[in-house]
Amino acid sequence: MVAMDLIDIGANLTHESFDHDRNAVLQRAREAGVVQQVVTGASREHSPTALRLAQAHPGELYATAGVHPHHATEYTDECDAEMRALHAHPEVVAVGECGLDYFRDFSPRPAQRKAFERQLQIAVDLAVDGVGKPLFLHQRDAHDDFVAMMKNFDGRLGPAVVHCFTGTKKELFDCLDQDWHIGITGWLCDERRGLHLRELVKNIPANRLMIETDAPYLLPRTVKPQPSHRRNEPMYLAHIVAELARDRGEEIEITAAATTATARAFFRLPTPA
Ligand SMILES: [Zn+2]
Repeated sequence: MVAMDLIDIGANLTHESFDHDRNAVLQRAREAGVVQQVVTGASREHSPTALRLAQAHPGELYATAGVHPHHATEYTDECDAEMRALHAHPEVVAVGECGLDYFRDFSPRPAQRKAFERQLQIAVDLAVDGVGKPLFLHQRDAHDDFVAMMKNFDGRLGPAVVHCFTGTKKELFDCLDQDWHIGITGWLCDERRGLHLRELVKNIPANRLMIETDAPYLLPRTVKPQPSHRRNEPMYLAHIVAELARDRGEEIEITAAATTATARAFFRLPTPA
């Protein structure tokens, strides 16, 4: 395996499945070349935990703070204040995970739209030199509403990444037309539902492309042998970048270096010493 520096922009390291061996998971990630990770904060409960993890691993782990559409009903005024307090910490590098999910509809759609709108407002309010705080976005089966809501904030939002992109060619081009970034996960490796992505990823400019595991979810189906516990880990980012590079017709080193440079610029991460 070639030496490469990778950044996992979406790891749910606060998930309870990591509670018994989180340090070993981090060590395996390092050995696989994952030099930095952005820990996803996706609820009132887990966003503070994501920050604490980042604080415990300075320069290596960073965090997002947000409320996932599945948890939209918990987005009260008090929750909004909690999110704003979390964003005062320098380790919190993006607003999210937030967005819309009409596939599962775990929260009513009006509540999803309200929670999303309030978090977009946070990103606007935290602008530095006129550039809004980066956004870590989730969208599933809600493309039209999602684009419309983002457009309501036109000219006021900073950089945005549509994480775990799984959509159609039209949706991809809509996102790229808006100059949004695209996060690619091991969904790419799913022969049942990810085949279309293998064609689409060639269309993403290197300076808009980032990679993520979404661990512990979405274990890449092409990892052989499949671990018996089925848990995904950040170390499998090396597998994802290899598959992505093949689909893009690039050397792995090229895709690895480009996605790392893009992630570092997007989240404004320092290069580790
Ligand atoms: Zn998501």
